Amino acid sequence: MSKKIMSLIMLMVLIASFGLVGCGKDAATTAKVLKVGTDAGFAPFEFQDEKSKEYVGFDVDLIKALGKQMGYEVQIQNMNFDGLIPGLEVNSIDVAIAGMTITDARSQKVNFTKPYYQSGLTIVVKNDNTAIKSFKDLEGKKIAVQIGTTGATEAKKIKDAQVREFNNAPEAFMELKAGGVDAVVNDKPVNEYYIAKSGSKDAKAVGEPQQAEEYGIAVAKKNTELAGKLDKALEEIKKNGEYEKIYVKWFGKKPGN
Ligand code: GLN
Repeated sequence: MSKKIMSLIMLMVLIASFGLVGCGKDAATTAKVLKVGTDAGFAPFEFQDEKSKEYVGFDVDLIKALGKQMGYEVQIQNMNFDGLIPGLEVNSIDVAIAGMTITDARSQKVNFTKPYYQSGLTIVVKNDNTAIKSFKDLEGKKIAVQIGTTGATEAKKIKDAQVREFNNAPEAFMELKAGGVDAVVNDKPVNEYYIAKSGSKDAKAVGEPQQAEEYGIAVAKKNTELAGKLDKALEEIKKNGEYEKIYVKWFGKKPGN
């Protein structure tokens, strides 16, 4: 075989293998994986099932239903709440769903979908605590919160309060149980779930929800296309009854009741 033919064959092999690499890439993008970040310590929105070790909850079911509607395979990654927005910014995740309140400050950094859940903050204290009944009573008190949350922001506004920040909500509740703080400021549905499931002997929720908060699904600032697709899918699963089914499963009542 002449040198010329040999090098021609080698060139063709090279081109073919590049072609294959290209195909591989295409195949990966057509598989359409949605990388979802969450903070699985926020029952009933996202938490790890003790037996199966799977991530479960309202948000988990919701994002799976939305993924299905949009033709994406959903892959869930557990991370700290305060790592979710940075994760979107560096593209390590496509979507963050974590009972995340839509705020002006966050909207500067990420795109939110339309609201999918109405929430608000309440206070959790020990059962025998009669001194704290409202946010006003938290002045000068020791408060546990989850780092990077709206609960942390609100607690820091309270006069003379000593605010201690924890990586997740269960750690904040544990600190209350251990007597390290007087109160926990956290999202109402999560407080209620915690008390109903594990804490009713030691803790109770007090205070009217501090202010209305709405949860949204966050995507990177530049990813307006994905935010639009999620909004469309959300509308569709609200119409076809899937959203209501998931809501009833986790909250035992229909949305808006
Ligand atoms: N809704 C609160 C927030 O957005 C808490 C969210 C959470 O702890 N997962 O800050």
